[in-house]
Amino acid sequence: MPVAPLETYFVMKKSILKKLRSIVGRKHCTDSETDLICYSYDATNLRYMPDAVVFPETMEEVAAIMRLANEERFPVIPRGAGTGMTGGALAIKGGVVMGMTRMNKIVRVDEENMIAEAEPGVITGDFQKAVESKGFFYPPDPSSAAYSTIGGNVAECAGGALAVKYGVTKDYVLGLSVVLPTGDRIHTGVETTKGVAGYDMTRLMVGSEGTLGIITKIVLRLLPLPETVCTMTAVFDHIEDAARTVSVIIRSGIIPRTLEYMDRSAIQCAESYLNIGLPTDIGAILLIETDGPREMAETEISKLCTLCLSHGARSVQKAKTPKEAHDLWKARKAISPALFKLNPDKINEDIVVPRSKIPDLVKKIDTLRNETGLTMVSFGHAGDGNIHFNIMLDKSRKSDLEKANAAVEALFKYTVELGGTISGEHGIGITKLPFLRLEMSEAEIDLMRRIKKAFDPNNILNPGKIFPG
Ligand SMILES: Cc1cc2nc3c(=O)[nH]c(=O)nc-3n(C[C@H](O)[C@H](O)[C@H](O)COP(=O)(O)OP(=O)(O)OC[C@H]3O[C@@H](n4cnc5c(N)ncnc54)[C@H](O)[C@@H]3O)c2cc1C
Repeated sequence: MPVAPLETYFVMKKSILKKLRSIVGRKHCTDSETDLICYSYDATNLRYMPDAVVFPETMEEVAAIMRLANEERFPVIPRGAGTGMTGGALAIKGGVVMGMTRMNKIVRVDEENMIAEAEPGVITGDFQKAVESKGFFYPPDPSSAAYSTIGGNVAECAGGALAVKYGVTKDYVLGLSVVLPTGDRIHTGVETTKGVAGYDMTRLMVGSEGTLGIITKIVLRLLPLPETVCTMTAVFDHIEDAARTVSVIIRSGIIPRTLEYMDRSAIQCAESYLNIGLPTDIGAILLIETDGPREMAETEISKLCTLCLSHGARSVQKAKTPKEAHDLWKARKAISPALFKLNPDKINEDIVVPRSKIPDLVKKIDTLRNETGLTMVSFGHAGDGNIHFNIMLDKSRKSDLEKANAAVEALFKYTVELGGTISGEHGIGITKLPFLRLEMSEAEIDLMRRIKKAFDPNNILNPGKIFPG
């Protein structure tokens, strides 16, 4: 049975605000307009005003808020840093945004068992640095790591450039503490490598986009820090050669730590932003890294240089120092901000196809670019088939917006035909909700709706997300 939607915008009663303040303390609950504006948007640039924002500090406070939300039937929207790309943290039906930023402690790093426990509001980059100082490595590395939270990463199952070798957030989450929408508290998973008692509730929670429960603690697996990282770039005249080389690299038996791809528009854009002499008359650039024991990482990167040259690369460049490696990354990291030099609005999609299908996807993007005349830029984690496809446009030009929306839908359809998915990292939220049916059957969506209803009978936690209709 479908979950009953909250049909109207919730309007907060003053008595509820008073109760919220008695749970978290007056200064940790706000309904001032200026504060609400700050929590009304995320990286989608869409805006929905909440009625209040609360900042709990403990699992008990989170549970008390959820119990109150059930009694009074108001929506609660968990929020980390608000860097989400699909509107997951937006109060689309009003209600209370629950900011997790006060729950920001790294509770422990257990060096013997190579695990760490963190609260959800810890910034991903801070967590990475903290474990690195003890000789450990936490690989999930979204480009937003300097701002995003571990809780948001778990809720979205964030990935990044290292996924090609090390996987994504779900591969590191061993267990969770969660407050359910009813206010009940549960702990999932184990702290051991093995554990198969009952259903895997940890996996269900990871990537659930704040719709099944509020994550209040996370136990994460750590790896030993690799001894060396080697970095190179390969410049290709023809985009198809670069795309084919991605598959050749993976088949070669070497698993690079990163295998990033930037098309000509992406490079031109980065160059106009940085002005550092990047070649702009090219088809594409691959940015590749290996890691591990020094000798092995260096041998592998040399082999990859040779392999790229024998598969159509015009030139290759190996970084000799960390500074040179940093410079090679500069262009890749500049693309996102640089895109706004092209046009004021961005439509950004994180499609994934099997690696062998990247040449087909690249060809399709070229066709769409030619057919629509729109500015399209693609770059991303080619090593795992995850391409960030961007259309830069001025949304006030209605015909451009219509063409762009049609191009996105065509690309999603083609991605699914190729055996891929419409979202590798950013989730469904509200922006991809109309397209979920391209990838999932009605029976599959209905099963997920029933799971949602079992967790959240009153549909108060992050309503209106993921499910179409
Ligand atoms: C410049 C830029 C680059 C990015 N690069 C990447 C990338 O490389 N890879 C990638 O995967 N993503 C990337 N993203 C997207 C985004 O950073 C990730 O989705 C990130 O995981 C969101 O974390 P957050 O703390 O900002 O969460 P928010 O945006 O605040 O929330 C995201 C979702 O998680 C839920 N949520 C947050 N905290 C909790 C909690 N404690 N319990 C339950 N639910 C919760 C929210 O309700 C929402 O549905 C990028 C974003 C930007 C702006």
